[in-house]
Amino acid sequence: MTTTITGLAASAVGVTKRYGTGATAVTALDNISVDIRRGRFTAIMGPSGSGKSTLMHALAGLDTVDSGEVRVGETQLTSLSDKGLADLRRNRVGFVFQQFNLLPTLSAEENIMLPLAIAKRRPDPAWFDQVVGAVGLADRLTHRPSELSGGQQQRVACARALLPKPDVIFADEPTGNLDTRSGGEILAFLRRSVDEFHQTIVMVTHDANAAAYADRVMFLLDGALVHEMANPAADEVLDTMKRLGGT
Ligand code: ADP
Repeated sequence: MTTTITGLAASAVGVTKRYGTGATAVTALDNISVDIRRGRFTAIMGPSGSGKSTLMHALAGLDTVDSGEVRVGETQLTSLSDKGLADLRRNRVGFVFQQFNLLPTLSAEENIMLPLAIAKRRPDPAWFDQVVGAVGLADRLTHRPSELSGGQQQRVACARALLPKPDVIFADEPTGNLDTRSGGEILAFLRRSVDEFHQTIVMVTHDANAAAYADRVMFLLDGALVHEMANPAADEVLDTMKRLGGT
């Protein structure tokens, strides 16, 4: 696939975020700047406590920052009201969580449709079929989450994130709760979403094999971006993580 998609899906410029005050204050993000390129798969890695979740939450409009600028597309998040932020999260950002976060009383199909239903948007039936086919769930749509394996539940969550065609999907340790085979299926699907559907994906992971599916890996340490790697190979990623002090 040689389609070139330019521009940024999201960015942070000089962002600082602190938790607490005084002697116990923690600087979770320390004047960090990152560019999330459109139509690319970006992995965020770094030791525990390095600021990965805080960065992802800031980029997704789930959390405020103390200084600096955060944008999704051209929209500067600090300029938005609470309602504007809620609208942005609903319409322009998708999420895949480690724990799947499906609603247990809804069928797979209802879970997949939920973000669009909440946003009062109608799915394009052809696109719905394409997404459901891509995750291999066509014969599971009436099942409740409890009737599905972990891997199938995460595929429902991926379809739910992809269906609204958000500016960016944030995936937080999406394979952390899955066995290697199911995790591999999820990563292959995320990769395919980028290559075939031009989706932009940002994935936080501590797994070098998962990061190797990405186009680029950003390494954080103490709230700062300390290293980037293009077209990562798992062993290179692992070496860098060891240098930075573990996972
Ligand atoms: P990572 O995702 O890389 O493990 P986090 O972004 O969760 O890192 O955390 C970065 C730093 O901010 C850590 O020192 C963590 O303890 C601190 N931190 C994160 N969330 C909070 C919070 N709600 N209150 C206080 N400190 C927090």
